[in-house]
Order: sequence, then structure tokens, then C-alpha cells
Amino acid sequence: MTRVHELDPETVDRIAAGEVVTRPAAVVTELVENSLDAGSESITIAVERGGLDRIRVADDGHGMTEADALLAVERHTTSKIDGIDDVGRVRTLGFRGEALPSIAEAARLDLTTKAVADGARGTRVVVENGEKRSEPAGRDVGTTVEVTDLFARTPARRKSLAGPKTEFSRISALCTRYALLRPDVRFRLSHDDRETFATPGTGDPTDALLGVYDRQVAGASTTVEWSAPDDGSADREVSVSGVVCYPSVTRARPTHVHTAVNSRAVENGDLRQAVVAGYGDLLAGGRYPVAAIDVSVPPERVDANVHPAKERVAFVDGEAVTAAVESAVRDALSGEDLARTADLAF
Ligand code: ADP
Ligand code: MG
Repeated sequence: MTRVHELDPETVDRIAAGEVVTRPAAVVTELVENSLDAGSESITIAVERGGLDRIRVADDGHGMTEADALLAVERHTTSKIDGIDDVGRVRTLGFRGEALPSIAEAARLDLTTKAVADGARGTRVVVENGEKRSEPAGRDVGTTVEVTDLFARTPARRKSLAGPKTEFSRISALCTRYALLRPDVRFRLSHDDRETFATPGTGDPTDALLGVYDRQVAGASTTVEWSAPDDGSADREVSVSGVVCYPSVTRARPTHVHTAVNSRAVENGDLRQAVVAGYGDLLAGGRYPVAAIDVSVPPERVDANVHPAKERVAFVDGEAVTAAVESAVRDALSGEDLARTADLAF
């Protein structure tokens, strides 16, 4: 008898699922990223009791055929890459094929979907206690995923979560980040049937800011479209886009500096710090700006694989990236009349 032995596949799956699906906000992240990858123009996120009772994400993306929907809930099935060579250049937010099976492992998953090719009939797939069943379902093109009984089978994990309010604040932060990052997509977030915010999907970052925040914030903002000057002073491969508010709009905490890399919302203290640094001494002491910044870097220079939930990224050359962000914010603010506040024509 050896002490070391191989784990059975069920246990392996349970452990892997626990790394992706850590809390309700992680479920929302995966579902919203799937909706974005599906080319959705409208994404509606409805959450009950901080996601502990129910999470529903509905989109109008390309949907799935019955065969694809049945495959999608299995482990390591994806339409996004073919092999390891693709990982380095992947442009989609997902690629591991782990989200839906991990969610189904940790909760009850109810998915309805229809692809354009399906004609009139869509598909409903339910995975519950490891059992999968499907039936026809009528619906428009797109996908709705509903997640209930999260962590019912892992009470310790469920107990380790914060209360609904705190869990919802994480969900809200994530949705806010994507709503600002993708002003071309309509986002709607509600908690316990009350709308938290809605953005119109016009493509204008100011409209998205207005949806998420208010007129004071949206009215004192300017867009960022930065690429390195031709003088060799900065990295030509890095570009920065987004929206920054004037230094007159501040918050007590840095959580309103929303950051993304290659259109993936990420938590990255260095990027956040670079945004703040771009304001120079314009900010009052101890105050933080409101901003949403997306940095574009060639995929081979950034590793989104350092964290199972892809919340963090590692750069090959972080300093070039943070220098670009700092310059982009500084340049965007330097052309503005920063005393201007809330003079948008509403
Ligand atoms: P990944 O996103 O890493 O490929 P997932 O488990 O999140 O893995 O999803 C598996 C597959 O299911 C995806 O590759 C995609 O083809 C399909 N899929 C998931 N969600 C959606 C959606 N909202 N709309 C269309 N297809 C989807
Ligand atoms: Mg995915």
C-alpha cells in the first residue's frame, strides 16, 4: 500500500470547481464573460439575496444549438480554442471550458438557449446534483443561465461567504466594470427586483457613466484614446482607452478606478495606481478618482492564466504598461477645462 494515490474524477472535479466558483461574484463574472464572448448587445443580470438565492444572466448573443448546449456544461469543452498554441493569442474572455461545469458542480444550473440556426425551437438544459437533462424550449436567439442553490452541497463554503449585502457589492462592482468597459453593450443589473443600474449601449462612455453613476460624474468626464507617440518615448504596442472623471469628482476609496486588460475586467493594483498617478497632484489628499481604463497589450505579453478565475493578470513588462496608463490619463486631463462640472446638456 502506498500513501500516495490518485483521486477519483469526481473529487478532482469538485476541487477544480471550488477554484473557479469561489463566491457569487465569480459566477456572475463567468456568465457575463460568456455573454460578451457570444457577441451580445444586451445583458441583463438579476440577482437575489446577494446571489446566494439566485443569479440569472440573460443575453441576446449567438446562443447554442442543442448539441452545443449539452456539450458546454461538460468539463473542458469550449468553442474558443483548439489547443495550447491558441492560449497565447486568445481574444475571447473565456477559453478554459471550465465555467459552466464548475457552476453546475457547485449549484443547480438551468440554461435555456437558442442559436440562429435552430429556427423556432430552443433548448433547455438543467444540471442538478450531477444529473443532466434537456428539453425543447421556446425563446428568442440568445442564452439565459439561472443558478440557484449555490454551495448547497458544500455548506462550509456557503458559510464562509459574507452576507448578501457584501456579496452583492462585489457583483455590482464587477458589473459596473464591464458596463463602463463596454459602453456598446446594454447592461442592466438588479438586486431583489430593484434596478441597481442600466446603461443604454450607445457606445458612448459618457452614457455608460451616466447609467452607472449620475450627472455629476458623467458631466465631469472625458474619454481616453491613447496610443504611444511616434517619438520612441513609449511602447508602441500598448494602447489605452476608456473614460476618466475630472479631479473634482473623487471618492474616499480607490474602488471606483475600474481597470481592464484586453477588454477583460481585472483587479490590478499596479494599473489602478498608474491611473491615480496620471492625475499627478490634481487630486485632493487621500481622495481617489472615478475612471475606467482598458489597456490593450499584445496577448503574448500578458498572462491571464495566473488565477483560475482570471481575476488577475501578469505582464511580461509591467512598467511599460503602467507608464502608458499614466501618460494616457495625464494627456486626457491636460486638454480639459477641469473646472467644468456637470454641464452636459440633459
Ligand atoms: P469557456 O468560456 O472557457 O469556453 P464555459 O464553460 O464558460 O467555457 O462555456 C463553454 C462553452 O459554452 C463556450 O465555449 C461557448 O461555446 C458556450 N457558451 C457558454 N455561454 C454561452 C452564452 N451565453 N452564449 C453562447 N454560447 C455560450
Ligand atoms: Mg466562459
